[in-house]
Amino acid sequence: MNLQDRLSMVGHRIREACGRCGRSEEEIQIIAVTKYTTMKTVEQVLSSGIGHVGESRTKEAQSKYETFHPLGTWHFIGHLQTNKVKDIVGKFEYIHSLDRLSLMKEIEKKAADLNAVVNCFIQVNVSGEKSKQGLSPEALFSFAQEVSRMKQIRVVGLMTMAPYELDAEATRPVFRELRRLRDELNAKDIFSYPVQHLSMGMSNDFEIAIEEGATWLRLGSVLVGEEPIQRRDA
Ligand SMILES: *Cc1c(COP(=O)(O)O)cnc(C)c1O
Repeated sequence: MNLQDRLSMVGHRIREACGRCGRSEEEIQIIAVTKYTTMKTVEQVLSSGIGHVGESRTKEAQSKYETFHPLGTWHFIGHLQTNKVKDIVGKFEYIHSLDRLSLMKEIEKKAADLNAVVNCFIQVNVSGEKSKQGLSPEALFSFAQEVSRMKQIRVVGLMTMAPYELDAEATRPVFRELRRLRDELNAKDIFSYPVQHLSMGMSNDFEIAIEEGATWLRLGSVLVGEEPIQRRDA
């Protein structure tokens, strides 16, 4: 399958999932995760009309950004080391992995230097898997209180990664819980604005995520494929 075929197949599956739960397709945005792909594929993705690309490792993220940034909107979706914040803030429009105070402070500082506001998702480790980044659900609210005092950070939503399950249906409780946490965050009025988005759903489970309220899907292999240049070890 080429990119156009994959894109129309994914579009079809998104429409079907929306149909099942009575949502409008317009509520759902796709980020093409290009972390496994070559520069050439990034270029193809951006010229195919997908406006959003996601990268998870700062080194590759930077070179792809430098080459192609005027062509799209850039999402940093991976674990972000504090000493790499300077390479991302002011460039990538969204950071999906805000998960600790040290990172929050560094983003705030670098964004203040640039007089920029950074759109962030707070990453929550809903499943509790040791291999996953993110705050525990219990830690979310006090962390959000801290973030709400930052002038240069705008929390646009929550992000999670579900465990890989052979039966995608098994991921449903994880997505449902992230949605509940977002609603609770809003009910507590921690931020002076509504926290709108849910960044959840990957190749293996995006239809379930849609049914549970996802607004941003992060799609790698199902959409852009995987190329041998980078193995799948992230
Ligand atoms: C790699 C990655 C994705 C995409 O993974 P696929 O299973 O290939 O769709 C999404 N989100 C994050 C945080 C990732 O690291």
